[in-house]
Amino acid sequence: MARFMVPKSHPRYWSLYYRHRLEEAMEKGILARAGMIAHGRGEAFDYLIGEKTVKPAEEAMKAAVAKFLLAEHPVVSVNGNVAALVPEETIKLAKALNARLEINLFYRTEERVRAIAEELRKYDQDIELLGINPTRRIPNLESERGKVDEEGIWKADVVLVPLEDGDRTEALVAMGKFVVTVDLNPLSRSARMADITIVDNIIRAYPRMIQLAEEMKKLPRGDLERIVESYDNGKILSSVLIHMRDRLTKLAEGGIWRKKEL
Ligand code: ATP
Ligand code: MG
Repeated sequence: MARFMVPKSHPRYWSLYYRHRLEEAMEKGILARAGMIAHGRGEAFDYLIGEKTVKPAEEAMKAAVAKFLLAEHPVVSVNGNVAALVPEETIKLAKALNARLEINLFYRTEERVRAIAEELRKYDQDIELLGINPTRRIPNLESERGKVDEEGIWKADVVLVPLEDGDRTEALVAMGKFVVTVDLNPLSRSARMADITIVDNIIRAYPRMIQLAEEMKKLPRGDLERIVESYDNGKILSSVLIHMRDRLTKLAEGGIWRKKEL
């Protein structure tokens, strides 16, 4: 794999950097080809929100962290895109939330599971990884898509399934799981089906969630419960759409032609 040669001064440096990470992940067998397409769709929505964490996403992250800190069997799920973009942060977040980590793939192959496990173990050799030998099935999903770990998602009361397919999100909700997702597209089925939807780039969301987990750990349960109870995902999704609308209106009225920064 060629080294990443783009100069830091390039206006789209970070976008190109993460694309390179995905290319590398593809070569290592971590990423499914469709993962590239999913990333492109995510990037498009990142332009619309302004490539920064918006207030409704911050609120969703707080509620998600509170829910995780209250959970009995919390599980953080990791797929190819997640392992390519935020492997170290995934481990740190699972630890901060006291959650178990499960490799859970839409396009499951044993090679890809192994490649992801190997990648994660670069950051923590001893990390416990579930999903290596899944023995349970999510009802109403055909075989490969439905496989889950008995000790992980199967048992979980609260699950974080970032960059997830809508159909699987819906099936997890139908199983009675409390589902948190990270998804840049507020219109995706995943975003609409989850209990808490964090509309943000996972690259920004995970570091922030790690911080929040460290801070909120100190809160009494009652405070955490109040945060979760007062949370309204429908309102949050609407706020994101309104943010996009207002931002686009402002850009349209101000003009964007030959503007260096938006
Ligand atoms: P759905 O099945 O939920 O209707 P989809 O088929 O578009 O949506 P999938 O490919 O199944 O989506 O899941 C990937 C989702 O992850 C997409 O909605 C995409 O916008 C989002 N996504 C991709 N990259 C990122 C990222 N870096 N951060 C956050 N979300 C992302
Ligand atoms: Mg999908």
